[in-house]
This record gives sequence, C-alpha cells and structure tokens, in this order.
Amino acid sequence: NQGGVLMANIPQKIIHEYLRHDKKFPHVWCAGCSNGIVLGGIIRAIADLQLDRDDIMMVSGIGCSSRMPVYVDFNTLHTLHGRSIAYATGVKLYKPHMKVIVVTGDGDCTAIGGNHLIHAARRNIDLTVVLINNNIYGMTGGQCSPTTPHEAIATTAPYGNIEPDFNVCDLAMGAGASFVGRTTAFHAIEMQNMIKDGLNHNGFSLIEVISACPVIFGRLNKKGGPAEMMKAMRDNSIPLAAVEKLPPEKVEGKIVRGILRRVDKPEYCDQYKILTERAQQKGAK
Ligand code: SF4
Ligand code: MG
Repeated sequence: NQGGVLMANIPQKIIHEYLRHDKKFPHVWCAGCSNGIVLGGIIRAIADLQLDRDDIMMVSGIGCSSRMPVYVDFNTLHTLHGRSIAYATGVKLYKPHMKVIVVTGDGDCTAIGGNHLIHAARRNIDLTVVLINNNIYGMTGGQCSPTTPHEAIATTAPYGNIEPDFNVCDLAMGAGASFVGRTTAFHAIEMQNMIKDGLNHNGFSLIEVISACPVIFGRLNKKGGPAEMMKAMRDNSIPLAAVEKLPPEKVEGKIVRGILRRVDKPEYCDQYKILTERAQQKGAK
C-alpha cells in the first residue's frame, strides 16, 4: 500500500540526504555500539525540523562517538581531543545563524574538555551538545573516564575504580546551562525529541545520552551483550515525572530521564551583537 511504500522510502531518503554513504562507509563502530542509534536520532531530529543541511555544523573531538561528523553530509569539523566546544564556539560566533551541534563522549567532554564545557554553559552560547556517555574511553582501550562508575573495572582500574563519578547534567546545570536533558540509547524516540528540543532552544543545550559500549566497558564489567545492555537501560531508568511519586529507595541508583532544566536566559551571541552595535555607535560619535 501507499503508506507502506512511503514508510519504506523514509530511511533511504534520510541515508541519501544526510549520510556520506558512498564515501565514508563502512563505519568504524563495533556491532552493538549505541553510537549508530544516536546518529539516527540526530539525523531524524534534523529531518523533522526540516533544517537546511547547509545551515548545520557538526563538530566533534576525538573518540568513538566523535567519528560521527565523518559520516554526515553537513558542514563538519573533526577536531582535537576535548576541544570540540571551543571550535564550536568560534563557529557560532562567526556564523550565528547556524545550528551548531557538538557530538562528544564522556572522556572527551568531561575530562580534557571539561573546562570548555563549563564555560560554554556559563556563557549560555547557543550550542547543542549531545554527550554520548558510555562510562569509558572506548577508542583508546578502556581507560577510566570521569563518568566511570565507582568500583567499575577499566584497563586503568583493573581492581575497581576508586574515584566517584561525575553527574554531568548536574555539572552543566551548576555551570549555568539553560537546557539540560538526559535519556538513553534505548529510548530512541525520546532521545530524538530531546535533541529537537535542544536544537530549538536558544541557549546552551546539553543532552546526555546514556549509551552502551558492549565491546570494552561491557566485556570488562561482565554486562552481557548489546541486547542485555539495552535491557539494562530500559530497566534501570525512570522518567523524571515518576520520580516525585516514588519513595527515595526506588529512585536510588536509577538513571533519571527527562528534561531537567529548560529556562530562558540571555544568549551569548545575542549579547555579543548588542555589544558590537554599542561599540560601533560609540566609534561613530
Ligand atoms: Fe562503540 Fe565501545 Fe566499540 Fe567504541 S569500543 S565503537 S564505544 S562498542
Ligand atoms: Mg566514552
């Protein structure tokens, strides 16, 4: 039927419009990695919003998830480890009309890139940061990142991680981010909608996507295969709306999903434009 034909055409259209499928595939990600699900969510969010590809800049640093700009047919920057938000800040100031999306991992964004994260959040510059949190440095072989859970195993913590882990959403909110949300790779539609909301928000947006790295983190910590790790995201998370109705012991240790903050605050590029005009008027006098 016609509906079926239309449905069948959608993925192909998306592949042809948004992916460099003839040039850059096959991709480097392991089978069962969540990165592909997040890529799908970002692309569908962009397609739903009918954004012009030429008005999108996707920026990344280094890591498994940071390979993502290689595969998409937008304006892209694949930059230095930890520096994606710094590059994205430069792009946004020079081309404020662009939708600037940063794709980053937990190691890239909260360790070497932590400084850039907190200051971009403080400035409230209009970037959409999709932080794919798989709790480990996957690409470089499984070292502890700032989000590796306490007592989890990593190649740099073979007897268990003695450090407490960052709550990256709390970190971003503490630094002043005006849009902060958390979801998981299992909740693909929720993720897609949250990315859309982040893209529509005029200010710094951080969307944390809890993800599975079955090949490194999963194996080291005996989490089972990709399907088991996806089921764990489903079973160990609760929506924000349910949190208030549950006793604290039922919330303890769960991944709380939802938009944790959405407020209007002056955006940095808007402020910069006002400042520029003020300086030009002063210069003209
Ligand atoms: Fe994904 Fe982990 Fe493989 Fe990297 S090492 S591609 S994060 S499964
Ligand atoms: Mg990681």
